Amino acid sequence: MARDPRYDILFEPVRIGPVTARNRFYQVPHCNGMGHTRPRMLAAMRGIKAEGGWAVVCTEEVEIHPSSDASPAREGRLWDDRDLPALELMTEAVHAHGSLAGIELFHGGINSANRMSRMVSLGPSSRPVRTFDPIQVRAMDRHDIRALRRWHRAAALRAKRAGFDVIYVYAAHDLSVLMHFLSRRRNERTDEYGGKLENRVRLLREIIEDTKEAVGDRSAVAVRLAVDELLGAEGITAEAEGHDIVAMLADLPDLWDVNVSDWANDSAVSRFAEEGYQERHIAFVKQLTSKPVVGVGRFTSPDAMVSQIRGGILDFIGAARPSIADPFLPRKIEEGRIDEIRECIGCNICVSGDMTQVPMRCTQNPTMGEEWRRGWHPEIIPAKRTDEAILVVGAGPAGLECARALGQRGFDVHLAEAGTELGGRVTAEARLPGLAAWARVRDHRVQRIAAMPNVQVYRDSRLSADHVREFGMPHVVIATGARWRRDGVGRWHGIAPSGLDPSRVLTPDDVLAGAAVPGPVVVFDDDHFYLGGVIAEKLRRDGLEVTLVTPAAQVSAWTVNTLEQRMIYRRLIELDVELVTGHAVTAQRDANVELACAFTGRASCRPCGSLVALTARLPVDDLYLSLTADPDSLAASGIRTVSRIGDCEAPATIAAAVHAGHRFAREFGEGSTDEVPFRRDVEMFGAG
Ligand code: ADP
Ligand code: SF4
Repeated sequence: MARDPRYDILFEPVRIGPVTARNRFYQVPHCNGMGHTRPRMLAAMRGIKAEGGWAVVCTEEVEIHPSSDASPAREGRLWDDRDLPALELMTEAVHAHGSLAGIELFHGGINSANRMSRMVSLGPSSRPVRTFDPIQVRAMDRHDIRALRRWHRAAALRAKRAGFDVIYVYAAHDLSVLMHFLSRRRNERTDEYGGKLENRVRLLREIIEDTKEAVGDRSAVAVRLAVDELLGAEGITAEAEGHDIVAMLADLPDLWDVNVSDWANDSAVSRFAEEGYQERHIAFVKQLTSKPVVGVGRFTSPDAMVSQIRGGILDFIGAARPSIADPFLPRKIEEGRIDEIRECIGCNICVSGDMTQVPMRCTQNPTMGEEWRRGWHPEIIPAKRTDEAILVVGAGPAGLECARALGQRGFDVHLAEAGTELGGRVTAEARLPGLAAWARVRDHRVQRIAAMPNVQVYRDSRLSADHVREFGMPHVVIATGARWRRDGVGRWHGIAPSGLDPSRVLTPDDVLAGAAVPGPVVVFDDDHFYLGGVIAEKLRRDGLEVTLVTPAAQVSAWTVNTLEQRMIYRRLIELDVELVTGHAVTAQRDANVELACAFTGRASCRPCGSLVALTARLPVDDLYLSLTADPDSLAASGIRTVSRIGDCEAPATIAAAVHAGHRFAREFGEGSTDEVPFRRDVEMFGAG
C-alpha cells in the first residue's frame, strides 16, 4: 500500500550537525539488560531497529571510566580500546541498513556505587550514593574535573573510531554526573562549578565544547537533558532552570534530546501517563534553539507524531518503548501499513529486564531479545514445511499469539474460545482503572488474524475433551489460562490457613466478573505485582473502604522493576487506601480478618466485609490433563500431539504467555532437541 501523504513529513531527512538522518524516527538511548556482556545479542537488536526504519539508533548509557561502574546492571562500556570491538558490532549492524548510530557516553557520578571496580565514587559534593549502598562519593576537586573531561574526550574519540555518527553528552535522569552538577540538590560547591546556575552549567558546557572539538568534524554532538524533574522548586523545572540551561547553551550542541527526570517519570507506565505526556514540559525547547529537537512520549500514532512536528514541538519522533514493541513502526507507516503497528502498551516489562540484569523482553514483541540468540525476526517467520492443521484452545494472549504466528507460517489454524470475547486476561484486566492499553495485546492479534483466511476463530466454544476429540485435528494446543486460587496458598502461606474459608474468599477473577463486594474490603496481596494495587484502586473508586495488606516490606514490591511503585503508592495514598505492610491475612471471622505480623507473628484484627486474595494462580489444565491421560482415544481420533502453553502450563506475566505462544508457533514442526535452545554471548577473556 502507498503511504498516506499526510505522513510524508515524517520521512523528510533532517540534518544533525555533520550528519543527516534519513527520516524523523529516532530511537533514543535505552537500557536493555544486554550491554557490554551480550554484544552480539545487542547488535542484532539494534540492527533490526535500523532495518525497521529508525533513522537514528542509539546505545544505552555507556560507561566512560571504571569510576562509573554500573555493575551489576549491564550497561554499555567504553573504558578503553578493548571495549571497541563490541561497540563496533552495533555500528556495523546499524549502518548496514543506512541508519545513523548514536552513543550515550555516561559517567554516573553519585549514581555509581562502583560495586565491581571498587573505585571511589565521584560527585560534585560529598554525599551518599543514590543507591542505598552504604558508601559516599568524594567531592570532585579540580584535578578530578580535569580527569573527567579527559575521560569523556577519550571516550568520544574512541566512539568516533567505532563509527558512531551521533555522540551524546548526557545530563538526564538524575543518573549522570553532569546532571548532578546542574542540580542545586546535588551540588553544594562554592567554587566556579557551584552556586549560581552559570557555574553549575560550566562543566556541561565545557564537556560539550570538548566533545565538539574532538569529534565534531565527523560526528554530531547531542545533549540529552532533563528539562524538568517534576520535583517542584527543589528540582530543575521547565519554567525556571530547565529553561535557562537550554537558553544558555542554545545552539552549542548539534541536537537536543530532552525529557523529564527521573527514569520513572521519563518512562512512565500507561497507567499513569498518556501518549505525548511529556509535551507540556519540553515544548519550550524548540523556541530557544535552531538545532533539531528530539523528545519522547510513547508515540505510536502517526497522527500524534505529525502533530508534534507540525506544531513545532519536535523535529524527531523519539522512541524507546514504541521501537521495542515494534521495531518496524517507521516502515509500517512508510508503507501504508498503519493497522499492522504493534503498539506499546506502556507496561514496562521491558524495563524489568534491565532492572533484573537480564536481556530485555517485551509484552507486545515476543522476538525482542531473541533476534540473535534464537534468530527470531519480528516480521519474518519461516513458512510451514508440512500441511498440518492445528486446534488452539483458548484465545488469551498465549492462544492468540500462537494462532497468529502459526497462521503467518501458513498453517491451517482453528482457534476456539469459551467466551464471547477474545483476549482472556487482557480483556478482563483492560477494564480496570488505567489498564485500557492492555487491550492492545488482543487487538493487534485479532486484527492480524482477521486478515488470514487460514485461521478460523470460534467464539462461545468451551471445548471439553470429547469436543476436542470430535474436532479431530492432528495437533492440539491448550492455552486455557489460569484462575486465582481461594485458599490463601501462595508465597507466604505454604499450607492453606485453616482460618480461611475458600467459599468466602473473593479473588480478582470474581471482582473482574462483577461479583458483589460488600465493604469494608481487605485486599491481601501476596502477588506483589501491579494487580493487587489496581484491584484496591478499583474498589476504592467504587466507594468502598479498602485496606491493602501485604507480607512484603513494601506495597506492590515487584513494581520497583517496572518503575511504577512510587506512582502506585501516591495513587493509593491519595485515594485513602489504607496500606498495611509486613502482615499476612491468616483468618476470617464474622466481620473481621485476623492478621499476623510477618516478623513476630503477633496477631491483630481488622474490620472486613470482603476479603480479596491475590496469592497464587492455578493452571486451568483439566482439559490438557484429561486429553493426555487417555492416549488411546487420542490416537483413535487422529490426534498426534497435545501441548500446553502460557498460563495453563505455568501462570506468569502476559509477556511470558505471548512469548510461549510465539515460541510454540516458531518451533512447531521443526523438531525438538535437548540442546540449549539459544546461542549465548560467551564472555570474552579480558573484556570483563
Ligand atoms: P494466557 O495468558 O495463557 O493466554 P488467559 O487466561 O488469558 O491465558 O486466557 C485463557 C483463555 O482460554 C480464556 O479466554 C478462556 O476463556 C479460554 N478457555 C479456558 N478454557 C477453555 C476451554 N475449555 N475451551 C475454550 N476456551 C477456553
Ligand atoms: Fe511497551 Fe510493555 Fe513492550 Fe515495554 S514491554 S515496549 S512498555 S509493550
